[in-house]
Amino acid sequence: MDRNKEYLSEKKEHEAFLIDQNHCCLCGTRLSFKHLVDFETLKIQEDADCPKCQIRLKTKNYSLQ
Ligand SMILES: [Zn+2]
Repeated sequence: MDRNKEYLSEKKEHEAFLIDQNHCCLCGTRLSFKHLVDFETLKIQEDADCPKCQIRLKTKNYSLQ
């Protein structure tokens, strides 16, 4: 049983790192990602919103070229 506990805590730490990227830093709600593609400039805008706080947390821009 103790071994299982150790395994679970390691897994939780790994999940905590993933949660940091995809969940709201304020309330922990999973973020809603939206991708807007501008075909004229071939750029993708990625917005991450928290549906609970209703704030925009991240905006990233990618280029397809
Ligand atoms: Zn939030």
